[in-house]
Amino acid sequence: MQQDQQVFDLLDKELQRQRKGIELIASENFTSLQVMKAMGSVATNKYAEGYPGKRYYGGCEVVDEIENLAIDRLKQIFNASWANVQPHSGAQANAAVLLACLKPGDKILGLDLSMGGHLTHGSLANFSGKLYQPFFYGVDRETGLVDYEQLEQTALKERPKLIIVGASAYSRDWDYARVRKVADEIGAILMADIAHPAGLIAKGLLNDPFDHCHIVTSTTHKTLRGPRGGIIMMRNDFDNPMGIKDPKGNIRSMSALLDLAVFPGTQGGPLEHVIAGKAVAFGEILTDDFLQYQKQVQINAQATAKAFVDLGYNIISGGTDNHLMLIDLRNKNITGKKAQETLDKADITLNKNAVPFDDKSPFVTSGIRVGVPAITTRGFKEENMKFVVDAIDKVLTNADNEQVLNEVKKSINNYMIDFPLY
Ligand SMILES: *Cc1c(COP(=O)(O)O)cnc(C)c1O
Repeated sequence: MQQDQQVFDLLDKELQRQRKGIELIASENFTSLQVMKAMGSVATNKYAEGYPGKRYYGGCEVVDEIENLAIDRLKQIFNASWANVQPHSGAQANAAVLLACLKPGDKILGLDLSMGGHLTHGSLANFSGKLYQPFFYGVDRETGLVDYEQLEQTALKERPKLIIVGASAYSRDWDYARVRKVADEIGAILMADIAHPAGLIAKGLLNDPFDHCHIVTSTTHKTLRGPRGGIIMMRNDFDNPMGIKDPKGNIRSMSALLDLAVFPGTQGGPLEHVIAGKAVAFGEILTDDFLQYQKQVQINAQATAKAFVDLGYNIISGGTDNHLMLIDLRNKNITGKKAQETLDKADITLNKNAVPFDDKSPFVTSGIRVGVPAITTRGFKEENMKFVVDAIDKVLTNADNEQVLNEVKKSINNYMIDFPLY
């Protein structure tokens, strides 16, 4: 059969785009070639509804080994005692947890989307806010830090069944122990969604949520640098202390309830080719190279934050503990939307982002989110971050000067030649 030139030409174009630009979207990364090789493999041909050893189809003996390997490696990474590697994405992982733990109409408490939370933490636009009754906590207006007082007061007043910690645009570490105390007081389940900082947590560079949270979910494609996908894990608390029942009315272990909620609860056949990619990525995460990588991510994020502050930029909370930062551009007289679009012209890719207490719509926003995992994978060290911040500053202060934008773009394309990708 002839190769589909139309599609592969487009894929080549996308490769060139990734190669020549500075990638600062905090949720993106560049996987290794062997992760992609596993994803583009024969495992995509296999139906394997169910779990290893308990499938609904024949011929699963090999994919059983692949999936078990992924599970074992993942448990080792986080010192977890149970894991499910089948969720197709982070949102699917969260959907399964909510389905396992809640009945329609039950109350949940999460970080407000406009303060850095995620759609699946109760947004009214999402199943999590339509099927369940959402309540929110935010961040403190002055410090930009999670308002644990507000979290506690809302929890005591509304008594949600599930409390969610974790965020998509929050640059500081979390006090999981403090939230667990609140959860225990009202008999709620505590779930940590570590989709963003999972890679740093995996290597012990941030607080460990596993000792304090009943359930931990994550994506695999952000700081974990694996294939696009989701995971669910637990370290303790298997015994279902809340007495949650399965669809047949039996009280089961939390792990059994979560497995049932992924399949058949929210998904059909697992993506075994992606699970093979997850197994490869988990193997990479277990190496010392990955520790060096995550340390560099943290160092690069701090160098970037400092360079921005030195140029008068307002970083929410004043800095970062993890891989990202949120910048309020209101003192720079440019909206998030215009910043994103202008930076795109200079081959700097990032996203506009609402800042806490934003007065602009989510389509415009007052801020941008900057993350360093992808450029760190390309080999950027702390001394390269000044170049990045200076380029961003030049673009934002010359947003209507096409000539300057073109110059910056050329200098970036040139700079990136020294950081080969694939
Ligand atoms: C990215 C993210 C998700 C969702 O991941 P998808 O794979 O895009 O569905 C869930 N929760 C948080 C906090 C995230 O940042």
